[in-house]
Amino acid sequence: MLDRLEELQREALQKVEQASELNDLKDVRVAYLGKKGPITEVLKGMGKLSAEERPKVGQKANEVRDEIKTAIEEKESRMEKEALDKKLKEESIDVTLPGRPVRRGNRHPLTAVVETVEDVFIGMGFSVAEGPEVETDYYNFESLNLPKDHPARDMQDTFFITSDLLLRTQTSPVQTRTMEKHEGQGPVKIICPGKVYRRDEDDATHSHQFMQIEGLMVDKNIRMSDLKGVLETFAKNYFGEDRKIRLRPSFFPFTEPSAEVDISCAICDGEGCRTCKQTGWIEVLGAGMVHPNVLKMGGFDPEVYSGFAFGMGVERLAMLRYGIDDIRHFYTNDMRFLSQFK
Ligand SMILES: [Zn+2]
Repeated sequence: MLDRLEELQREALQKVEQASELNDLKDVRVAYLGKKGPITEVLKGMGKLSAEERPKVGQKANEVRDEIKTAIEEKESRMEKEALDKKLKEESIDVTLPGRPVRRGNRHPLTAVVETVEDVFIGMGFSVAEGPEVETDYYNFESLNLPKDHPARDMQDTFFITSDLLLRTQTSPVQTRTMEKHEGQGPVKIICPGKVYRRDEDDATHSHQFMQIEGLMVDKNIRMSDLKGVLETFAKNYFGEDRKIRLRPSFFPFTEPSAEVDISCAICDGEGCRTCKQTGWIEVLGAGMVHPNVLKMGGFDPEVYSGFAFGMGVERLAMLRYGIDDIRHFYTNDMRFLSQFK
């Protein structure tokens, strides 16, 4: 019987050794240690043994069972560890691989222009003011000396939300709103950039939505020469140190006198070329001395205070700066266009 037990042990250990999967070990366990296994059979036959042999066989059977059990457990844990190692190795992240570059975007050309212009005027002591894009008729027209029947309203036909609410046609309402906040006390020194809307047919130079930057300065003793000085400083900072400006008489309902402001052509340096239509000058903005009615409606006494205002199209500034020929490029979100402004 002792020989039989040793034989079983050898057999079982060999099978453990050969096992290549966890399931094989399970089979060995069932086959040798199970209730119907050969060791149990041996133990069942112990009744036939002498009192002397019985404990020896019993002890041996226990030893063999423990040996097999330990062998199975050791092999099991080794296989589990190997499986885990393999899995970890497969799923590990190689931190030495070069990273995927995150593509860096750039500012929209109109944003870049607005920020550049803001920098120039902040440098001259102006601050940046903002206002709503949905405006009342009063702020958009009436407070700017454009009463209900004024013919100049036709040039600024817009989108009405109600008979009194509309999409602003200019950033000028911010001027009135700012003057009201000052309650008749100068100085006021602001620029207001923002989107404006008009019922225009879209073409290469017109869009139903575009951007303006307006400026307003109100204080005692503000003269036309102050306006000229500020605009000249802007032109030199934005378009280049060699640029000159000229003022031509014009009409705006909210300024008196009013002027169109031209800047000497940077391409031909004033000689005349295609860009400046052979004139040597490029029209960039409108300006003038704030109309007394506008000052009054903003809460300022026109006998004490005077001021100037100017307005320019951001798209036009961008088109001149970057040589862009169609305003619609700014709004079509074409990456081939936009990614050129890094
Ligand atoms: Zn030119």
